Amino acid sequence: MVRSGYEWNAAHRRKIQAEFSYYVEAKRIKTELDSLPKALAIECLLKRISSNHHQRDYLENQFHRASAGIRGEDRMVNKFKEFTMKEEHLPMWDLNMKIKKWTVQIDGLLLTERCAIVMDSKNVSGEIHYNAATEEYYKKAMPGGEILHLDNPVFQLDKHINFMENWFASQGINLPVKGLIIYTAKNCVFQSKPTGALICKTYQMNGYLHRILRDSPLTAVSHPLQDIEKLIAANQVPFELSPLSETYRINFKDLKTGVYCNKCGGHGMQRVKKSWICSACGNKDAAADRLAVQEYFALVSDELTNRKFREFSGITDSDAARRVLSKYDLEISGVRKMRVYKMRKK
Ligand SMILES: [Zn+2]
Repeated sequence: MVRSGYEWNAAHRRKIQAEFSYYVEAKRIKTELDSLPKALAIECLLKRISSNHHQRDYLENQFHRASAGIRGEDRMVNKFKEFTMKEEHLPMWDLNMKIKKWTVQIDGLLLTERCAIVMDSKNVSGEIHYNAATEEYYKKAMPGGEILHLDNPVFQLDKHINFMENWFASQGINLPVKGLIIYTAKNCVFQSKPTGALICKTYQMNGYLHRILRDSPLTAVSHPLQDIEKLIAANQVPFELSPLSETYRINFKDLKTGVYCNKCGGHGMQRVKKSWICSACGNKDAAADRLAVQEYFALVSDELTNRKFREFSGITDSDAARRVLSKYDLEISGVRKMRVYKMRKK
């Protein structure tokens, strides 16, 4: 078939327009997308499985542990607001660092010109027991008295101190590293403390920090503290969490699909024009797709395609799905329908 000049032009123009709209989408300023924190991801997963799902009890338990850990860290950070010191000092919180394949998560790090202090928070309630002869460390529930064996936190603290020493050495930084373990649970009673590290409760934390600093002479720090802070901040690695359905072995078919409504808690948000409206309660929220994309990565897979996003969100139109996905600053490989979207690694 020989196309007339007009037909050819129309086809050509459509092609150019399509190319142009891809180009405009690619150039538009995109919204950054962070991974969901673990506790929130588990909460989202719980909302998507049935009330009698075989993993529900276990997941609820995991959710309480993750959110208790966050509350404990918050108590530590809040208590630190009352910390004063004449000399220069810089606190840093929630660090994720890496030396080759060795990764650590450090709750707090206080930089001073005497030393750096690693602060590990432990949210363990009950009676804490440590037997120095057997090196057994456990808690007894109050009331009840059930015994739960735990990992000795001194080993983790030593590992973190050792990590920071190695990391400072790799950066040519000369600063001794000390450590403190802080028990943040409100109802925690020490019967005996593990030996080998300083251990205190939240209300004692600042006093213990001063004690460590008193015992540490001023050193000739090789770098200004702000420079060390910047180096640490620049070396943060994202905490990589496998998609939760893999971790907890939950079938995709067991997940409720749809976009979450933050008013009624259902998953009935419908795409209407450029916004979302809840089919159950009428709530309108143009940003509802943000959580849906984050949830997909946190719960299902680290690779997303247009088709998979439609399955998960309930969007029926592939152009609409593409427009939603193009709002976010994701790593894209492949072209057009073969596009694969991934979370950008920071
Ligand atoms: Zn609703």
